Amino acid sequence: MTHMKKCHICQNNFERLAKAHLIPDSFKKISGEFGKTDNHLIRAGIYDAKAPKVQTLDFDKEILCPDCDNRLSDYDEALKVFVETWAGSSSRALSVSGRAHVVRFSTDADMLLAGLAVTLFRCSISSRCTSVDIGTKYENEMASLLGERAKLPVPSSFSIKLGGVAPDPEQLELILIDPFRVKTENCYIHVLIAYGTIFIAKFGQQPWPTSFDALPSVASGEQAVNIAVTSLDKSPISDFLKVTAATHRKKTV
Ligand SMILES: [Zn+2]
Repeated sequence: MTHMKKCHICQNNFERLAKAHLIPDSFKKISGEFGKTDNHLIRAGIYDAKAPKVQTLDFDKEILCPDCDNRLSDYDEALKVFVETWAGSSSRALSVSGRAHVVRFSTDADMLLAGLAVTLFRCSISSRCTSVDIGTKYENEMASLLGERAKLPVPSSFSIKLGGVAPDPEQLELILIDPFRVKTENCYIHVLIAYGTIFIAKFGQQPWPTSFDALPSVASGEQAVNIAVTSLDKSPISDFLKVTAATHRKKTV
């Protein structure tokens, strides 16, 4: 007898589930030169279309059926388009290195919120990604919102803040392979970095830690978002990155 597997969204049983990506596939376009995946932070050849992709652990064949997995691709695409247009935008190039300020950038805020929430949801329900945990309550809420095809499949308490790294060419190409969760000021936040853009996400009603006050929140329903442009070492997540990198290095020795 074949062992049936249950899809986390539609709750139906299948003999085989989809090979679901955890973080959007497009985030993994890594040039050979920087293709080492033994560190959380890697450099990617964003402007090199022919750069080979490096397969990391970010897929899971135990979480979603093909139909449900397919429906999430719109949100992945939205995240990809946002990251690529912002990375190459003239607003970003205007930022003054070392001096944080906020830039207004045109994008569909709801698709961006959904893109982040969906990526973190997939990482959270997967046993292959141990660095993300949004909690059972929000996993269930996301699954039912996605299952009923809600227009904005995001818990009402979900919020994000954006940091865009100043246009230092080296930092612009930074990608964090694994999103991760940290606790600061008694609040859990998730961090994801793609092409030098720092996404910080929070599930739950507790207020944002005060150290993140300089980063504006993304407002649902708007056609533009505010992005705080600052260098990575001056951003409120810089300490966590060092800790994570050090921890990860220890593991690979
Ligand atoms: Zn399904």
